[in-house]
Amino acid sequence: MTTREFCESELNKYVKKITGETGAIELYCADGADLFEERYVINVTGGKGSITASRPRALLLGVYDFLRRVGCGFLRPGDKGERIPRKPLGKLTAHAEVVPSARHRGITIEGSVSLENVLAIVDWAPKVGFNSYFIQFRTAFEFFDRWYGKRGEKFTEEKSAEFVRRIISEIKLRDMVYHAVGHGWTTACIGVQANGWKGAELALPDDKKGLLAETDGSRKFFNGIPLNTHLCYSNPEARKLMAEEVANYAQAHPEIDVLHFWLADDSNNVCECAECRKKRISDWYVMMLNEIDSLLSERNLSVKICFLVYLDLYWVPKSESIKNPDRFIMMFAPIFRTYTTPYSDVCNGKPLEYEYNKVKYPNDASTYLRFLRDWKNIFAGECFDFDYHLMWDINRDFGGERLAQVLFEDIRVLEKLGMQGYMSCQLQRAFYPNGLAFYLMGRALADSELSFDAIRNEYYEGAFGGAAEYASDFYKMLERTVSFKFMKEEESGDAALPGFYEAQKQIEKELARMPEPDDEICAESLAILRFAAENTLNIVNVLVLQLTGADENSVKKADEKRKKFFNDGELRFQPYVDDFYQNMIVDGIIAAKKVGIYA
Ligand SMILES: [Zn+2]
Repeated sequence: MTTREFCESELNKYVKKITGETGAIELYCADGADLFEERYVINVTGGKGSITASRPRALLLGVYDFLRRVGCGFLRPGDKGERIPRKPLGKLTAHAEVVPSARHRGITIEGSVSLENVLAIVDWAPKVGFNSYFIQFRTAFEFFDRWYGKRGEKFTEEKSAEFVRRIISEIKLRDMVYHAVGHGWTTACIGVQANGWKGAELALPDDKKGLLAETDGSRKFFNGIPLNTHLCYSNPEARKLMAEEVANYAQAHPEIDVLHFWLADDSNNVCECAECRKKRISDWYVMMLNEIDSLLSERNLSVKICFLVYLDLYWVPKSESIKNPDRFIMMFAPIFRTYTTPYSDVCNGKPLEYEYNKVKYPNDASTYLRFLRDWKNIFAGECFDFDYHLMWDINRDFGGERLAQVLFEDIRVLEKLGMQGYMSCQLQRAFYPNGLAFYLMGRALADSELSFDAIRNEYYEGAFGGAAEYASDFYKMLERTVSFKFMKEEESGDAALPGFYEAQKQIEKELARMPEPDDEICAESLAILRFAAENTLNIVNVLVLQLTGADENSVKKADEKRKKFFNDGELRFQPYVDDFYQNMIVDGIIAAKKVGIYA
């Protein structure tokens, strides 16, 4: 099926659901010369008219936008997340000329996922305005293995590769921008496929071992983890192997639109040999980027290469520069920043001094904005934000309101910071405590005119119907009483405790007056709210016991109750909450409390 045919089938499917009839809306689209340029015109009166677009992806975005304008709501993936109004064909009228605001509006695979989870996200993404999907690594093995491995299945690299082929076909069906790989190049080019962050006992031959970065006096996998190991980039052989690996991969995978070329993960792990120390790692990086570009140009390959401003690469090159900026997209990844404070609240910070393999990364966003400014000064090409709002902190902000607000403000300031969009590195199952932030991300990136309140109201009314006000007040109460800053170690236990006491009273009171849902969508939204609120209450109960010095046994019992409740409900709510991360983060909050870090 072509994207055009898919657009027709989607339009017909929803028009039929809304009206019971078939409309007479013609779809037209051009081929679209520029990969990222999208434009569509909706011209429909009384169920008749047309949607015209600059390329197939824009046509699909136009179809979903039309459906939204006539009353559909795509709050979450799946049937229980879609609000479809019933009205006569004659009432289907919408007129709009749209160029989505941000060029890059993407989702990156992360967390723990089943194939169905990912397919559901790819299907939902363009319905709320996203245009890109990024599959990390070559087979995304780690993310699937976390899901299938936990369920006792022997998950293989082959199975994962088969899943990825299936996902790519769904991405292509929607003409979405397909981003790929990122991690794993440093070892792939010496014959070791690093498909995750696990350690590996591998004996490399001496000629290959000699290419690894030297740390603490020897050339070895950094902390035993191939993925986190740099090469000795001053060695021309290492650079050549890297460039060839990337060019060969691009050539073998013409389906990739944007190929990410990153170095080792982890920090303070760059090669300490005398030759490598002569330049910054970003200089060696840029030399490799230029080498990759010339190989790709020789082979007439137009793939875009995305390079990363991250960890040691935050510091700009001193001697090298990118020769062909059109080949590249710069990706700014401030991984250690806090999500309790938006970009807009901080100015460009002071430069952080580079200490060779001894950097301590702060968590204030301003430090990272300074790095971005430095890079913007030497690279004028395309650039987007690679951020993590819905990766860890979605499990620390129990009301979901502050995180959504910070995300919104960050999106609104991207253009001013010189970034043409946002690629979200995040859990796919990110609709807990509710789906506001994820929904908002798509809507705010696509339409810069929308205010936070407008999107928030749209979300709550769509998801909760007649219970919108109740749900909105409930989440606001959770936000106010269960301190996000405490969960981030930015506030003391003493400061957080009065809020926790209030939460203990309010949550039970609010749950007792939960209204009857209007329909299936509201029922599902309220069920998620109940599950989130009960989990939050269990967590708060443990924290209160800890903060007030209760005996170890009482704390342990409350903690066991908390875990049991969440894990009993996990399968029921799995499309919305990532159990792997939720357990990891909440266990971390509770465990840290025991040793007093949070106090
Ligand atoms: Zn070296």
